[in-house]
Amino acid sequence: MSNVEKSSSISGFYKMAIEERIKIVKNFSGLNEEETKLFSSSLDIQTADRMIENVLGTFELPLGIAVNFQINGKDYLVPMAIEESSVVAAASNAAKIARIKGGFTTESTNPLMIGQIQLLNLVDVATAVQKIIDHKKEILQIANDQDKILVKFGGGAKDIEVRILDSPMGKMIVTHLIVDVRDAMGANAVNTMCEALAPVLEEITGGKVRLKILSNLADKRIVKAKAVFDKVKMGGESVVDAFLESYTLASIDPYRAATHNKGIMNGIDALIIASGNDFRAIEAGAHAYAARNGLYTSLSSYQKNENGDLVGELELPLAVGIIGGAGNIHPKAKLCKKILGINTAKELAEVVACLGLAQNFAALFALSTVGIQKGHMSLHAKNIAVMAGAVGDQIDKVAEQMIKEKKIKLDKAKEILEKIK
Ligand code: NAD
Repeated sequence: MSNVEKSSSISGFYKMAIEERIKIVKNFSGLNEEETKLFSSSLDIQTADRMIENVLGTFELPLGIAVNFQINGKDYLVPMAIEESSVVAAASNAAKIARIKGGFTTESTNPLMIGQIQLLNLVDVATAVQKIIDHKKEILQIANDQDKILVKFGGGAKDIEVRILDSPMGKMIVTHLIVDVRDAMGANAVNTMCEALAPVLEEITGGKVRLKILSNLADKRIVKAKAVFDKVKMGGESVVDAFLESYTLASIDPYRAATHNKGIMNGIDALIIASGNDFRAIEAGAHAYAARNGLYTSLSSYQKNENGDLVGELELPLAVGIIGGAGNIHPKAKLCKKILGINTAKELAEVVACLGLAQNFAALFALSTVGIQKGHMSLHAKNIAVMAGAVGDQIDKVAEQMIKEKKIKLDKAKEILEKIK
């Protein structure tokens, strides 16, 4: 059975035992026994030692599953690797509300990445620009000679753009190499091309190349996610209005926009990490894109439709890969991609964007109604109880009492624990 026919709408997933949850995911995603065992295993030390330098061990994060996601008519169970409580629950809840009106829809561009080659020491900048443009065909050919595999799959260098920039050091030229990286994140592929082109551009222009590297402002690789959130389920049109008031602040004020976008990245990073992708690249691209018009602003936008329902949209660059990078080495990243049932980097990016929108909706929904702390407090209280020394069923007892007394503090936890003991 394919994911198209399966439902990710699972009620009470959070109440189930871990084994029961694993069984559901196993059936949904067609995992074998070996794969299900991976949930409780760590990255082996030899693999870790090959991934980075000076390895001592590995560092674990909780891996959870967001349920209820329906995207372009297909159901997904979404793996999330994250240390922050409430994020997975919030995403699942938002996806449940989005489902009422048909779930999420997406649009995305081709996976075009930009490589930058900086040229300095130019006698005549305008002539140099013209020479680069005149040699476009040769430049693209040399770039594509570096990556025959990418070209074979329909990708490769497709275009160049030449920019003149003023700087305190005088005028410089930055040539952008536009590369379709297909199912890769593309940094290595693009950097290799840019390095191969450096001497070529020096020869063509008589200038000196300094930097030659990919840009993380991947604004030609854009994903848009959209969903309609049912006004009745939200609590009525007044809640939709309250939501829009909250959102408006993020659209005009960088202080709020930073926190608003952080909420989006709660979801995005969790899947980016679970799929073995580079979260620094995604973060850099997202925030640079949020400031693209000079004012740092919200990556999402919201409005009310004619029915009074809330329409949410998220647009951002997402340079994600399913080939190359750590995602093809880390066993759990491979497992997470199988759970998702994605077949292309484009599909992964679209799920990532929907998760970001769901997370953003959930945060603003809470902020516009009960506040953010209610949802955060239950797991937070449990963490505080553990810090106070609670074990086993003491943890829940201490946490519940702290929530009841509305005092979630370490000294309070210790006091309650003493009484229980
Ligand atoms: P990669 O080089 O490991 O894999 C990409 C290569 O796989 C392509 O060049 C191609 O030859 C081959 N390939 C096979 N099948 C393909 C398909 N269907 N689609 C596309 N390519 C296919 O990885 P990458 O994606 O070029 O680079 C990603 C890595 O680079 C990440 O680990 C990232 O952390 C790192 N990195 C990032 C930055 C940055 O973001 N600024 C800079 C340097 C390195």
